[in-house]
Amino acid sequence: MKNYLISPKKKQFKANMHSHSTCSDGRLTPEELKEAYKARGYSVFAFSDHLKVQSHSDLADEDFLPLTSCELDVAQQGDNSFNLRKAFHFNIISRHPDDFQQVPCNPRNYSMEYINEMIADARAKNYFVTINHPNWALFTEDEFMQVEGVSGFELYNCITANFGGALSFTPDIYLDLLRRGKRLYPFGADDNHSFCLPFDHPQNDSFGGFTYILADRLEYDEIIAAMDKGDVYCSTGPQIFEAYTKDGKLYAKTSPAAQIAMLSESGATAAANAPDGEEIGELCCDIDGTGKFILLHVVDGEGNHAMTRAFYKGEDY
Ligand SMILES: [Zn+2]
Ligand SMILES: [Zn+2]
Repeated sequence: MKNYLISPKKKQFKANMHSHSTCSDGRLTPEELKEAYKARGYSVFAFSDHLKVQSHSDLADEDFLPLTSCELDVAQQGDNSFNLRKAFHFNIISRHPDDFQQVPCNPRNYSMEYINEMIADARAKNYFVTINHPNWALFTEDEFMQVEGVSGFELYNCITANFGGALSFTPDIYLDLLRRGKRLYPFGADDNHSFCLPFDHPQNDSFGGFTYILADRLEYDEIIAAMDKGDVYCSTGPQIFEAYTKDGKLYAKTSPAAQIAMLSESGATAAANAPDGEEIGELCCDIDGTGKFILLHVVDGEGNHAMTRAFYKGEDY
């Protein structure tokens, strides 16, 4: 029997889970962002302006779903350079589009205790919480381990690519936290502020990283339920059409790729590699000695990535 990890029966809605508009320090209005993202095939868009949750439900239509959210932040204070201070940023996404409470945040009140208090407050007020741009936080993995109650991890942050591409995609931190026992779902996002326009400017921060959300319908409750179940994966290009386990093997079908790999809790991995100048679209490998979980990583010919969450033995397969 096929045990689906990524079901081909679900629709995959393309989402930008982190953005800034003229409601905070972004350059484009919510209406302009909707127009630009919708034109490029996005269906879900988290308007996550700084510090204040705002609903943009008026922008919803049958092909576009605004998520009610905001970005909270707290940073170390002191004499050292701003760039040397640890800063923890996280998105809170309301489970209801219009019925929400604010989560008070004092950005100068930096401590792990305060970070965890804010997250607990957000969860009590029915928000989904994600860690943002983990590299830019200057946190060690030990510090991330102390953060409690977070469900999502921004595995790709596009604006950070403009400060140095190696900072934007953080699979090492993600895998380390998974191996230490954290349950986190991977999100891709732009964190677009649109400082560098037009959209084809080399340092434009839109359309770089996104999340595929697997659901039956584009409805607020369905999208939130998919996020809660972990029916999401991070991508900067490749798509994973289906993945399942059967009789001790993992099968996956993807968009054209240079490599499709199974990673795991242990050092046991497997990969299908395209011959030079060719592309592949399938992986079939043994799940042997992989420990508590496996996950999929796809790289296309242009170096774009897709990465799934961890799928747990005994729960997911
Ligand atoms: Zn931020
Ligand atoms: Zn941001």
